[in-house]
Amino acid sequence: MKKRGSVLEWTGLFHVSPADIADIVGGFHSEMKRGLAGEPSSLKMLPSFVAKPRGSETGRYLALDLGGTNLRILAVELEGEGRFRIPAVDKVVVPGERMRGKGEDLFDFLAECILAFAGKGGEGNREDLRLAFTFSFPTEQTRVDAGRLLVWTKGFTATGVEGEDVVDLLTRSLRRKGAGFVRIVALVNDTVGTLAAKAYTDRTCDMGVILGTGTNACYVEETARITKRRGLGAGGEMIVNLEWGNFALLRRTPFDADLDRDSPNPGSQLLEKMVSGLYLGELARRVIRALMNEGLLFDGSSRDLFTTPYAFGTEHLSAIASDDFGVLARFGIGNLMENDRILLTEICRAIVRRSARIAGAAVAAVAAWMDPELKRNHTVGIDGTLFECYPGYPAHIRGALADALGPRADRVRLEPAKDGSGIGAAVIAAVVGAQ
Ligand code: ADP
Ligand code: MG
Repeated sequence: MKKRGSVLEWTGLFHVSPADIADIVGGFHSEMKRGLAGEPSSLKMLPSFVAKPRGSETGRYLALDLGGTNLRILAVELEGEGRFRIPAVDKVVVPGERMRGKGEDLFDFLAECILAFAGKGGEGNREDLRLAFTFSFPTEQTRVDAGRLLVWTKGFTATGVEGEDVVDLLTRSLRRKGAGFVRIVALVNDTVGTLAAKAYTDRTCDMGVILGTGTNACYVEETARITKRRGLGAGGEMIVNLEWGNFALLRRTPFDADLDRDSPNPGSQLLEKMVSGLYLGELARRVIRALMNEGLLFDGSSRDLFTTPYAFGTEHLSAIASDDFGVLARFGIGNLMENDRILLTEICRAIVRRSARIAGAAVAAVAAWMDPELKRNHTVGIDGTLFECYPGYPAHIRGALADALGPRADRVRLEPAKDGSGIGAAVIAAVVGAQ
């Protein structure tokens, strides 16, 4: 019984109550307001310089999607009337030494991947290839086809990129690698791509969310409310990238504080570090290590998997949450006692439930910002492996939406938008071409 009591003590740390959710919603509204006015805020509220697509856009584009873990290259054919085809797609894992080495090497790698894709016939016409570049890091845009990286996130540290125009860097690499025939026509945040992909087929979509390696969202804002930038056109609408991974008004546990302190970007991306796939496994590892040290797991013995930073990934949480302990056996942790299994499962579930409930609170906040009385339907396009693969993740988000919005939560629909960040980038490129 004593042991069981302590399980709840540990999992209780990660509880997100309805009152916590109300606090997050309130915090979002005040930070969104400040961010749009150009006042100091943990939400950067970055204008994208594009409006929502109409669904009638057409054309053939190449999309390059640099998300965090995976690089995706797609050939996209927009047929209009909300229909599209993807004749070819490639997925490559970005090597760690390119993420953390010289910026030039990272962009050369991207150019090489594009060239290889084009060479395989991924895209027929080599004369003039139009590329939409999905770049999922905080980027300050002044036009739809230019943007300066403000700060790296998600473990990237490549040198010489922060403060630079990433379209310029990729253009230079493309030329160096003999792929000057590729023209970058749009720079798109992955959230904006996701919104665009969903909105292309569904007129009620006005929000895009990423729950993968990192987390972020964008929504459709009235230009009149983006007071920090004049001249965006009165009476119009523009997609705004919240950069919500950096939201900071959250109640943290000592485990969150320690993970942040040991990260390459301490003090930044606090919401992302409690919510996204890059961090959830590591957070669980730190809790499990503490339990191990207290003698509450593995009969008091130590296991290497839990003493090595980032050795335990979010995909392992998914397996354990589904009672699949085979992943641990592969790390030499077999023959677990029933108590160990229960404790591990409950820790993993509590950490992911907290992630989903915070994400749900954030979705509720943005929906209520756009439409305080929720008079309209709002479809949220969601992309990312965490949302897609963790069992029950969408249901936890819906639980938080209900806590935040009551019965009106039904007005907010969550829709998977797999690979939307790439497809949508092509849609944005077409919107720009038509402007
Ligand atoms: P990106 O963010 O690079 O675009 P994804 O959306 O595919 O990529 O997300 C990759 C992240 O998803 C990985 O970093 C990992 O944390 C997480 N992940 C991978 N597999 C699973 C899984 N089975 N369940 C939950 N999360 C997972
Ligand atoms: Mg992605």
